[in-house]
Amino acid sequence: MGMVKFYKGPDMPLELHKVRVVQKLHLVPVERRLDAMKEAGFNTFRLGTKDVYLDMLTDSGTNAMSDNQLSAMMRADDAYAGSQSFERLQKAVEDVLGKKYLLPVHQGRAAENVICRTFVKPGNVIPMNYHFTTVLAHVTENGGKIEELLHDHAFQLKSDHPFKGNMDIEKLEKCIQENGVENIPFIRMEASTNLIGGQPFSLANLMDVRRIADKYGIMLVLDASLIGENAYLIKQREDNWKENTMGEILKMMTGLADLVYFSARKLSSSRGGGICTNQKALYAKMEAMIPLYEGFLTYGGISVREIEAMAVGLYETLDETMICQSPTYIKYLVEELEKRGIPMVTPPGVLGAHVNAMEFCKHIPQEEYPAGALAAAFYICSGIRGMERGTMSSVRDEEGKEILADVELLRLAVPRRVFTLSQINYVIDRMTWLWDNRHLIGGLKFTYEPPVLRFFMGGLEPTSDWPSKLMDKFRKDFGDSL
Ligand SMILES: *Cc1c(COP(=O)(O)O)cnc(C)c1O
Repeated sequence: MGMVKFYKGPDMPLELHKVRVVQKLHLVPVERRLDAMKEAGFNTFRLGTKDVYLDMLTDSGTNAMSDNQLSAMMRADDAYAGSQSFERLQKAVEDVLGKKYLLPVHQGRAAENVICRTFVKPGNVIPMNYHFTTVLAHVTENGGKIEELLHDHAFQLKSDHPFKGNMDIEKLEKCIQENGVENIPFIRMEASTNLIGGQPFSLANLMDVRRIADKYGIMLVLDASLIGENAYLIKQREDNWKENTMGEILKMMTGLADLVYFSARKLSSSRGGGICTNQKALYAKMEAMIPLYEGFLTYGGISVREIEAMAVGLYETLDETMICQSPTYIKYLVEELEKRGIPMVTPPGVLGAHVNAMEFCKHIPQEEYPAGALAAAFYICSGIRGMERGTMSSVRDEEGKEILADVELLRLAVPRRVFTLSQINYVIDRMTWLWDNRHLIGGLKFTYEPPVLRFFMGGLEPTSDWPSKLMDKFRKDFGDSL
């Protein structure tokens, strides 16, 4: 779904929605883009959208809302306690995710805060398929550490393995035996493993993880922020589930976990987040923390309007036509860039297309943040804002030494139903130009480095005057065009 056959020419993505509200974009001249990049300390997080043409930083809170979501927001029931909006959300969570008890939180990382404060004790180990930046920070904050148990092939960036997000079951058993069951409060599985390129796990793998969790009596926690897309790819790629509906696959997935948490900024094209379970005892352990950190139990720091949008958004994840546009665009983008020789993470995953920066910028040492440099260079030549996912997004060790990331990626997020195909073609064109001029890209170094989650607000500078040279070449090739 999403891709249609054309009478003449190759198959193409086809939008299954129409645009009814538009927002003006700003494609500023390359000279301004260079200045903006300097002002932002060569960190795309610090750019203002007045200087950004396509915002491909993230899919978080940037998905387009549907007409039904917007109209639901109008009937929001403003009440501190006992709001009907919250009752509708509870019903949606039960209908779509199959969980009765819901704790609302203001966004995904708040769920991680509540879960980690409740269950992680100093010295604990949390096995997971792979970390996400915020969950790593929360586990560490509570004195625990993580063990990442992906199969080795997950790090082969060019691959045709359909489920690179699978957990290696042998590694999991070994991890439990080595660390002791008593030191493992839960196993965490992340749907559409974000940091390795939005790569899904299979249902067969999740069932295997459940089997091990049962064998040792360990709780299984599912990060369901990107579960809609993972379910969509299970339907596309896993033989046993081709005939099932999205709803059946979603319920099967959540049914295998004791605790499910999510960022509604991704899952339901709204704001907010939640933690849900069918086990009253688990709910009770975390309940007191919601009024303390988030807000009363029937709003959790989320506005009632957003709660209504979240409920409708959850139901919409059952509709393949709502989910399929972004993965289809990503597939098109990845395949077209690959045809031009650009090193991409394959198979195409969800949430965005991922460029292998280590390969793209072979000449830049990893200590000089090749993915960050590529993100800065791509913004300068296109006005498109992507996100570094590599060493810049990692942390230093206790001695302050850089821990080099497993992969260096530039992520170009494709939020749901936001971009048009001509915009995607512009991405392809400018990336092709940059590939042909990649020798002009140089490294970066930190000038301001925050101790926690440094990639958000950190400032950097180029290791030479490469950005100006890149701009000059752009002017030479494109004349006075934007
Ligand atoms: C975005 C994300 C989070 C954090 O959610 P926020 O709402 O941004 O705090 C957690 N896990 C995964 C997999 C995510 O993609």
